[in-house]
Amino acid sequence: MMKCPVCEKGRLKKGKVKETMFGVYLGEFPAQICSKCGESFTDESITREIEQKAREKGIWGLGKKTKITRTGNSLAVRIPKEIATFLHLKEGKEAYIHPEKNRLIIES
Ligand SMILES: [Zn+2]
Repeated sequence: MMKCPVCEKGRLKKGKVKETMFGVYLGEFPAQICSKCGESFTDESITREIEQKAREKGIWGLGKKTKITRTGNSLAVRIPKEIATFLHLKEGKEAYIHPEKNRLIIES
């Protein structure tokens, strides 16, 4: 059996892993799971299957780089069109923002 490349202590065992992307559940997929740290690894064909599921659900590629710009004393984050559409964000709509460690959460 293979040694875990993440913790280098555990062994990889066959199992199933529940995959989610951006909080959307994609399903259960076969994976190699570390007995120590629980990290899971999927082979190339499964990775493609997961990608395909994410495409079907319209969430593939929603993670993007964006620029932070200045507007007056505040900073503004540009939200790409695809993300705005996915979250039903509209200009002028009120949203609640707050930090979570190094993340910025915007709740619509
Ligand atoms: Zn491990």
